[in-house]
Amino acid sequence: MTIGWTTVPIPQRAKKSSTARQRKTRPPRTPKVYACVCPNCGETFEATRSKTYCTNRCRLEAEVVRYTRKKLTEHPDGWPEDIDAVVRTKMAHAVTGTYNKNARRLSPKRRAEVIARDGGRCVRCNGEGTEIDHIAGDSTDLENLQLLCNACHRHKTNSCITEATDPESRATSKRLWLRVYAREPLRVCDASDWAQNRVTWLAQHRAQVF
Ligand SMILES: [Zn+2]
Ligand SMILES: [Zn+2]
Repeated sequence: MTIGWTTVPIPQRAKKSSTARQRKTRPPRTPKVYACVCPNCGETFEATRSKTYCTNRCRLEAEVVRYTRKKLTEHPDGWPEDIDAVVRTKMAHAVTGTYNKNARRLSPKRRAEVIARDGGRCVRCNGEGTEIDHIAGDSTDLENLQLLCNACHRHKTNSCITEATDPESRATSKRLWLRVYAREPLRVCDASDWAQNRVTWLAQHRAQVF
């Protein structure tokens, strides 16, 4: 009766499917948490892998310092007026830390809506409209957007900037300008080759916590 019986290994498939079932019923994994070092301020902060700076303010600071250092190298005898306007605006945003690039980003659809509503013309001078302006704050609602030409946009942005008088803003501004004029970059993110070194540097300054 028992002759001819052969033992066979338990099919792998059966085993696999049981673990697969287990995996399905397991609660979702908690996201990985990393301890990161902010390249701008040097503070350690908690983040997921994709974050470079600890705060939006740190991102703005790093961007304006790097941008301004680059423009100084490109224009050693003084930069043109349009760059001056950009630097002033970026500096103002970094000092207040309120400008949120991601929140202000417009979809192609919203862009087209603004251009169509304003008939492709600058709402201030009726010249050719080339830039979409956020009237006040970061909202991307249609009512908060208007079409302007480059000159009117620059003029409006400049007129919204004023000399800071409170000691905290002045100290921040001074700290940023010292970084701009430093012969060698004072922070790793101030260097012109930061774009190339960023990924490596971040990998070296990040540890998985759990
Ligand atoms: Zn920071
Ligand atoms: Zn205009």
